[in-house]
Amino acid sequence: MDACLAFAQSKQREITALIRELVECESPTDDSKAVDRFVDLVASKVSGFAKVKTWPGGRFGRHLRCEFQLPGRKKEGRILGLGHSDTVWPIGTLKTMPFREADGRLWGPGVLDMKSGIAFFLFAVCTLRELDIAVRRTVTLQLNADEEVGSDSSRALTEEEARRSEAVLVLEPGTGLAGKLKTARKGVGVYDVTVKGIAAHSGVDFAAGASAVVELARQIEKIAGFTNLKRGLTVNPGVISGGTRSNVVAAEARTEVDMRVVRLRDAAGLDRKFKSLKPFDRRCSVTATGGLNRPPMERTAGVVRLFRIARALARDLGIDLQESMTGGGSDGNFTAALGVATIDGLGGVGEGAHAANESILVDRIADRTALMAKLVGGI
Ligand SMILES: [Zn+2]
Repeated sequence: MDACLAFAQSKQREITALIRELVECESPTDDSKAVDRFVDLVASKVSGFAKVKTWPGGRFGRHLRCEFQLPGRKKEGRILGLGHSDTVWPIGTLKTMPFREADGRLWGPGVLDMKSGIAFFLFAVCTLRELDIAVRRTVTLQLNADEEVGSDSSRALTEEEARRSEAVLVLEPGTGLAGKLKTARKGVGVYDVTVKGIAAHSGVDFAAGASAVVELARQIEKIAGFTNLKRGLTVNPGVISGGTRSNVVAAEARTEVDMRVVRLRDAAGLDRKFKSLKPFDRRCSVTATGGLNRPPMERTAGVVRLFRIARALARDLGIDLQESMTGGGSDGNFTAALGVATIDGLGGVGEGAHAANESILVDRIADRTALMAKLVGGI
């Protein structure tokens, strides 16, 4: 049997115990103290064999970067393990969704997205050290505190570390119960479209009014028409609001629109369309603000090369590793957009990210940990 896999299997209980500890240290994005506690916990786990640095995240928790001491004399270039310490689950979620092991799975808030991925990476490092496998690169792990809300405060740090790295391994969950890697992600953007009209009494003075609600309804038809499924481009007016009372012609209305693109150049075309929206009723005005938040992670030659290495290494573990594309974004979008070879989805195999059935498969803990170790040691 593969030595890394045998080692990971022998550590299955310890890995599970670490996942439990990480899950039970709740860390919602909007509670900076809680995220800091989580960061301290991870730092305490690696302090014996890593240099640890943190950066303030403004209104968020601290961002963490660890550089590991690994076997092998000469280091050339770097590998970045990339993850996030925040979750979407508020403090107290454990009361209704406690960590538990049942039906061949581990359950709990953040277990899939992405506390298991963090545990796998730490045990991958442990595997390389214990088996004394020479590692060619300097290996770092960065955990951002604000990934679930768009990574505004960590993006520059991520990009700085990615620029000097040969490869980025993102610890987000794999796709589906097969745990496919993610070799392409759509780019994500948000637009706010605000319509201003003219208020009037709907009974006394109807003709003097210009309804922002009616205007917005027409604009939404137009905006929804920007979707082009063939190009993987979607535009979703997900929230609308406007008006004050039924007997008032509405003075203002707005919609919040999510957009996703496969190709970066589609985002520019879409931006022009949003910024040049014209009112149907000339008495109204339409303003669109916003834009691309995460560029798409495109399936470049570097991404494909990295995936092929991962697939070959997985074969040694008896796993037929597949790839997938997803509409969701991660911090891997930023690193891939810089042209740095990035593969994503190396974390837990399970389902229910951000949902009540969040869980990972117990029998995929060892091979994912071993794959991470082999990747870190092999690229
Ligand atoms: Zn995530």
